[in-house]
Amino acid sequence: MVNRLRAAGVEDAELAVRFLVQDGKCTEENIQRLIDGEPLQYILENWEFYGLPMRVRKGVLIPRPDTEILVDTAIAFLKTRTDPIFLDLGCGSGAITVAVMKHTGASAVALDQNPLAVALTKENAALNGVAPQAMEGDLFAFTPPPVDAILSNPPYLTEQEMTQLSVQVQKEPVSALFGGKDGLDYYRFIAPTYAPFLKTGGALILEIGYAQGAAVATVCEEAGYHHVQIIKDYGGNDRVVFCRR
Ligand code: GLN
Repeated sequence: MVNRLRAAGVEDAELAVRFLVQDGKCTEENIQRLIDGEPLQYILENWEFYGLPMRVRKGVLIPRPDTEILVDTAIAFLKTRTDPIFLDLGCGSGAITVAVMKHTGASAVALDQNPLAVALTKENAALNGVAPQAMEGDLFAFTPPPVDAILSNPPYLTEQEMTQLSVQVQKEPVSALFGGKDGLDYYRFIAPTYAPFLKTGGALILEIGYAQGAAVATVCEEAGYHHVQIIKDYGGNDRVVFCRR
């Protein structure tokens, strides 16, 4: 079976089979789905993020280990604030919101335009014993309450990158991946538009593509933020821009 998957070009075939067996899901149908490029996570419908169990569902972006540095940065910052509240723009599965709430006791508003994502965020919150205010809505037309931090892992892939997606990533929602021609559309909107909703000294914490550090830092500086920092993920790539209002 592992050989069949390897021959079909499925990466980490052995690991995939081990996960399927462990979940009692090692059926012929699921092996075929892997061969057809379905991400393992969509077959399992659960995946760990930040050491926490998360439900995963087709139609919503799969939580990635790259994002753990965003969570670490948010936790460290929120621990310096009293009774903090944060906003998660484009919450997807809710992985960021849930992990940050779990480790800080902060309150949270989590927004996504995709109703599947909002439902999944609620499910993952309940699974982990936290209760964010998860709302369906368009971040381009949303008025949040004043918050201590705004977190976002927005779509940031460029037009060029969208033409080179692996078969697996092609099974994920385009709406969670594509950030416009140069991948920066969401940053150019979020940084200036949401600044007024950050409490004094509050932080904007954004996940970025590995090549977007300088460009996003400039967007944030031009929007009037200070202490702009570019932070690397555990793979050594630029992954987060942190700045203060
Ligand atoms: N990190 C994701 C990828 O490379 C992109 C997610 C995003 O655009 N926020 O597939």
